[in-house]
Amino acid sequence: MGADQQVSRSTASVFIKDVLVWRRGLSDLLLSDGKISAFDPDPKTIPDNAVIVDGKGQVLLPGLVEAHTHMDKTLLGMGWHPNSAGPLFIDKIDNERRIRREIGIDPRKQSEKQLRLSITKGSTHFRTHVDVDTECGLAGIEGLLATREAYRHMMDMEIVAFPQSGLMIRPGTYELLDAALHMGADVVGGLDPCAIDRAPKEHLDLIFGLSERHGKPVDIHLHEPAELGAFSMELIIERTRALGMQGHVTISHAFCLGMTDRSYARHLMSQLAQEKIAIMTHGAPSRPVPPIAECYEFGITVCSGSDGIRDSWGPYGNGDMLERAMILGLRNNFRRDDEVEMGLDACTYGGAKVMKSTKYGLDVGCDADLVMMPAKAIAHAVVERPANRTVFKKGSIVAKSGVIVEGPS
Ligand SMILES: [Zn+2]
Repeated sequence: MGADQQVSRSTASVFIKDVLVWRRGLSDLLLSDGKISAFDPDPKTIPDNAVIVDGKGQVLLPGLVEAHTHMDKTLLGMGWHPNSAGPLFIDKIDNERRIRREIGIDPRKQSEKQLRLSITKGSTHFRTHVDVDTECGLAGIEGLLATREAYRHMMDMEIVAFPQSGLMIRPGTYELLDAALHMGADVVGGLDPCAIDRAPKEHLDLIFGLSERHGKPVDIHLHEPAELGAFSMELIIERTRALGMQGHVTISHAFCLGMTDRSYARHLMSQLAQEKIAIMTHGAPSRPVPPIAECYEFGITVCSGSDGIRDSWGPYGNGDMLERAMILGLRNNFRRDDEVEMGLDACTYGGAKVMKSTKYGLDVGCDADLVMMPAKAIAHAVVERPANRTVFKKGSIVAKSGVIVEGPS
């Protein structure tokens, strides 16, 4: 054999030769039974029937991790819908519900479109927030559970039950969140406890209560600015500490860390590190953002994601987590190679840590979830974002040069 398109799910061994492996250098590697079984293996140990992939010096990364998106409501492939939403956050929430009513968004179909696009870009792990409210009920959760099932051989996915329209201000939402978690949602979502619900203590007590009862982690959208956001963050830190939930809480966006007085922000960062609370930042160009290098300095886990892609909130996004690493770099003034790689770390290892993917990475024994692309160096891959990527999931090629290699099983 030898042609890499012959790598299929039935293939037991793959020998990838001559690739620039991140944090290891130029190497060969052997994949067996869906895992990385050796680097620079003794030729005698390579099975005769192994498929050989000639990397020709390309860069090899672990699969990219899309740790924050909203696949249930992307408008990808639904034509162009002019965005005329008002300036306030609540305007966008109302606008979204209106659009959903007017054009009808099928979460199953739409999530499949986004997922396929993202897989071709090299993502192998996903955490998607899915709207749960008194208008759409559990339709989004049902749609995402179906998409996850259809593509489970190509990726790993966590589903967050997300109260996008508020919790306390929409009676019935709590019961729906509870039902979503029973149905198979993996994570409890939350949203701006002060700004949307205007009842931070009650909102957080309900969210953390659900988390405790279902034994599932928490991921809270916190857009609140400056001192208001910092106040909510303190309440989240307090609950994480009191309930012993270290390592099970993520705060998404956390814009307040880029806004408050620096000594106060650093105090918050030390508390976040102590309680092992992760931060998700997508490097919003329009808002102050958590400083990634400072978060790393404190030892905070940082992950990233596309957030909404081509939806009623905004017209941008293409699901490319290499591009996201570049945006993080631009937003954080990363110029040196090691700084650019810090942004990439958030788009790979950071997300995998938040998703507790213990078999993730580029070590012997890790799942062979990989993305290979032509580039001279790791930072070069981030700035170049080559279109010609080869994506492996558990040792099988699932996408090549922007095309899914194998349909859903
Ligand atoms: Zn979001």
